[in-house]
Amino acid sequence: MSFPGSGLAKGLAVTLRTMTKRSVTAQYPDVQPDLAPRTRGVIGLFEENCTVCMLCARECPDWCIYIDSHKETVPPAAPGGRERSRNVLDRFAIDFALCMYCGICIEVCPFDALFWSPEFEYAETDIRDLTHERDKLREWMWTVPEPPALDPAAEEPKEIAAARKAADKLAAQQAAEAAAQNENQNENQNQAPDTEEGT
Ligand code: SF4
Ligand code: SF4
Repeated sequence: MSFPGSGLAKGLAVTLRTMTKRSVTAQYPDVQPDLAPRTRGVIGLFEENCTVCMLCARECPDWCIYIDSHKETVPPAAPGGRERSRNVLDRFAIDFALCMYCGICIEVCPFDALFWSPEFEYAETDIRDLTHERDKLREWMWTVPEPPALDPAAEEPKEIAAARKAADKLAAQQAAEAAAQNENQNENQNQAPDTEEGT
């Protein structure tokens, strides 16, 4: 059962509670929002890493990645070798009117060519202008934040372990060669006076 005027009292109570709370609205665009470091704003393309494998376009649930390429013949690295062919990127575009920011394309790219950028100011008045080409995707690449530092307690990545092992092996080989060279030089120096004495 409600008393007359109880609704008004409840409404005033809500108004009073809200008035005493800190405002959560931001005066955008005069004040830029303080975004989380890994914000999913837009997708940046680092095209040097792209091998045109088409994995991102195939896995995109919205089919909003458009890639065109052609094949080029690369001469053999050494005389007598075989010619190779490689894909050259002609077009890479994403239609952000269709994209649902799921991140699948970034996850599946095997060559680290796609990244999240926190950039979000790319609204357009015409929906057709939301298809952005490689130049724009490349520009966004420069707003991608640095990756977070590695956890010191984490297991060493196998790529780094393999690279370190190879570097250690090479250093050991070079040290052994240098030691053998020094030994030869010392032997030659020791033999030199005997030869002079004999003449
Ligand atoms: S984020 Fe998802 S929807 Fe958007 S382009 Fe990538 S795979 Fe497609
Ligand atoms: S998955 Fe990566 S390397 Fe393959 S086409 Fe897409 S961006 Fe390029």
